[in-house]
Amino acid sequence: MKKIVVIGSSNVDTTLHVKDFPKPGETINAIEITSAGGGKGANQAIAAAKSGAETYFINRVGEDSEGGYITHQLKSYGVDTTYVQTTMGSKTGHAYITLNEAGQNDIIIDHGANYELTVEDIQAASDLFKDVDCVIAQFETPLEATIEAFKLAKKAGKITILNPAPAIDKIPEELLQYTDIITPNETESAKITGIQIKDNSTLATNAEKLHLLGVKNVVITYGDKGAYISSADIETLVPAYKVKATDTTGAGDTFIGYLASNLKADLSNFEEAAKIASRASSIAVQRLGAQPSIPTAKEVENAMEDDE
Ligand code: ATP
Repeated sequence: MKKIVVIGSSNVDTTLHVKDFPKPGETINAIEITSAGGGKGANQAIAAAKSGAETYFINRVGEDSEGGYITHQLKSYGVDTTYVQTTMGSKTGHAYITLNEAGQNDIIIDHGANYELTVEDIQAASDLFKDVDCVIAQFETPLEATIEAFKLAKKAGKITILNPAPAIDKIPEELLQYTDIITPNETESAKITGIQIKDNSTLATNAEKLHLLGVKNVVITYGDKGAYISSADIETLVPAYKVKATDTTGAGDTFIGYLASNLKADLSNFEEAAKIASRASSIAVQRLGAQPSIPTAKEVENAMEDDE
């Protein structure tokens, strides 16, 4: 069984369902208000756990009921929360999402305790890094903590996956130096490279630019068009599965959790692991929500058998 560590954010997502977005100064009524667990880190940890990996999450929550709710949710999906700590006097991260009837959203994040994860927190979990297969991180927690985690992982010869989301102005060179696989979506990739993605040729140029940053393996997820993978051995667009999407929230997080869980240590099955990840995401987009929509390994396996 694969062992995966995810360092990252956890939020409570509060979604205000509205007909149209309010204009500046306008007051409108919500149709419905819903709440669920979210945050890229927590979603990716749950995806890894649902895909069958022994999964550990390193994170900070606030001293409030939301922190307890998040920890409970993670545990219910099988994520080990030994390294989820509470910051006294802080609030748990919260995302306020406005979702209109066309399926578009606006998101405002109160990062709360997510930004209080420290280098010392990572060092306190140092034994874990010697014992896992893969370490995953994003940009919703402090960069210094991620750099320390990747440094420990590489020292122990483990695979590191950087999901550079949300996009930041400049990724520190030290972090790139410890990154084995970078997984931006098309917008994040374009922000890093300065080249808009329109087709296979611009995907290839984006991948090339990402390699020039010093990262050997690149995955650019490209929504319903698929995922472009590029390494020393392979460069191809793994097409997305044709499905009717109802809610694409968490598609990228599902992809990353499944990719990490299915990759061999020498990355020799990069394309095959990306195909499984793509199949998992194609199931997630047909369901509502982020965390509840992530399929189990059995569901993905059955879907792939039915495809044959
Ligand atoms: P999100 O932020 O919504 O979680 P993302 O922008 O990080 O997603 P995407 O590139 O949209 O990530 O999607 C990740 C993967 O999910 C894609 O590479 C593809 O395999 C799959 N996917 C996304 N949207 C669809 C869709 N409409 N139909 C089928 N597969 C999809």
